[in-house]
Amino acid sequence: MDTDVLARRLRALVGEHAVITDRQQLRTYECDGLTHYKVVPALVVLAETTVHVAAAVTECAREGIPFVARGSGTGLSGGALPHADGVLIVLSRMRQILEVDRANQRAVVEPGVINLQLSDTTRSEGYYYAPDPSSQQVCSIGGNVAENSGGAHCLKYGFTTNHVTGLEFVTPRGDVVVLGGKAPDPTGYDLLGAVVGSEGTLGVATQVTVRLTRTPEDVSTLLAAFASTDQAGAAVSAIIGAGVIPAAIEMMDALAIEAAEEAVHCDYPAGAGAVLIVEIDGPAADVQHVFAEVERHCREADAFEIRIAADDAERALFWKGRKSAFAAVGRISPDYIVQDGVIPRTALPEVLRQIAALSTDSGVRVANVFHAGDGNLHPLVLFDESRPGEGERAEEVSGAILDLCIEHGGSITGEHGVGSDKAKFMPRMFTDDDLDTMQLVRCAFDPDSISNPGKIFPTPRLCGERPGRHQGVHPLAESGVAEVF
Ligand SMILES: Cc1cc2nc3c(=O)[nH]c(=O)nc-3n(C[C@H](O)[C@H](O)[C@H](O)COP(=O)(O)OP(=O)(O)OC[C@H]3O[C@@H](n4cnc5c(N)ncnc54)[C@H](O)[C@@H]3O)c2cc1C
Repeated sequence: MDTDVLARRLRALVGEHAVITDRQQLRTYECDGLTHYKVVPALVVLAETTVHVAAAVTECAREGIPFVARGSGTGLSGGALPHADGVLIVLSRMRQILEVDRANQRAVVEPGVINLQLSDTTRSEGYYYAPDPSSQQVCSIGGNVAENSGGAHCLKYGFTTNHVTGLEFVTPRGDVVVLGGKAPDPTGYDLLGAVVGSEGTLGVATQVTVRLTRTPEDVSTLLAAFASTDQAGAAVSAIIGAGVIPAAIEMMDALAIEAAEEAVHCDYPAGAGAVLIVEIDGPAADVQHVFAEVERHCREADAFEIRIAADDAERALFWKGRKSAFAAVGRISPDYIVQDGVIPRTALPEVLRQIAALSTDSGVRVANVFHAGDGNLHPLVLFDESRPGEGERAEEVSGAILDLCIEHGGSITGEHGVGSDKAKFMPRMFTDDDLDTMQLVRCAFDPDSISNPGKIFPTPRLCGERPGRHQGVHPLAESGVAEVF
């Protein structure tokens, strides 16, 4: 359909100023946090209500036009990458906290609400929203739902999926449906579970009901410095092996520390090959007892320095280095890939050693900063785009790291999603049958494949093939161009 005609129709539905067609303005939305993939959308709808979202989606469904939902655009896997012939539905104007229901420990929010905003609003009443991506100051709850986002404190409190109990949702046909609600465990198929983490491929969340968590009575945080990642990894295994579930255990290696120091002067112990930040929260008596145990495990794993945060200001400084680490890497390298893979926790020392070997062999520097307690790795693969071949080498190392994760029983994404970036890696983890089965789920929601197409799944096996049930002989097979195995 002609973009001018589409824009005219959408303006009539959502208002004159809610539709962007100007090429320069459209470029604002050409990528998410993964900036090396860029596509300018045909047009952007700045939705303000569920009615706007449903109207835009219905129009797309009628004309077979692809659409992509976008929250704050902080995704790191190209999930919100627009479709060149499609509509980008931006949810950031839908930013109201609609209800805080203390008695049921629930909040109902619009999808564009910023993650931290919810905690800031409810903290004075003794509550907060537990999933805390490092991007929590800017990312949206809708984006968190789509990515099933995690964060430092998800080791103890669980990922987004454990905190979402209900959704208002616009299906790819434009119907507004409600999944779940304030009560836990609704009857029937777990459609809510299917939608959380589906990366915008099943429709658009327009309202989210989340659990609120009681603010803990006490919090203690320590920073432990080790000569090597092996020793830090041993401390992590010892802590978890002893049955302690800290609120968070985060690890940074020497290169990540160097970057953080340059950027935010967090004053971590000099000469550390790795630091751990370990946080314990809960009832005061419990925290003190468990904290002493954690400290002992760190010493036994040869921590050469342990600092205990004396107050909130010092705790914030410990976290400042960690939370700014991704951005900080920009200080020591002009370009970098943020990788995201997950492995069983016990494989950490071995995988870190193999990543170091990959780095030495290839000459590509890799900084590691990650949620050690979950085994959720974030290797930052550094390169300089202006030097011929460096980008390609970095991509190879980045892919080899994912292979390591798979070999060790892990997965190609811990929390950042598959998006456009890792779709090509899916066949390394899943068989064709697995992928076809996933497509059946997708097709049940989105038979015409218009909701964020091209994400998560690799290009269909035969060119021009649409995801869905195979019917009859494929035209390419029939004409002898390709064989179906
Ligand atoms: C510095 C930095 C640190 C980060 N740290 C973490 C971390 O610790 N943990 C973590 O998990 N992630 C982290 N991320 C990644 C990112 O912030 C998360 O994936 C976040 O959930 C994305 O939210 P967003 O609002 O920016 O979504 P977007 O980037 O706008 O979109 C992400 C995906 O969600 C879909 N989507 C957005 N809104 C909706 C909706 N309402 N309905 C349906 N689909 C929708 C989009 O189509 C896209 O596929 C980090 C990113 C950065 C830049």
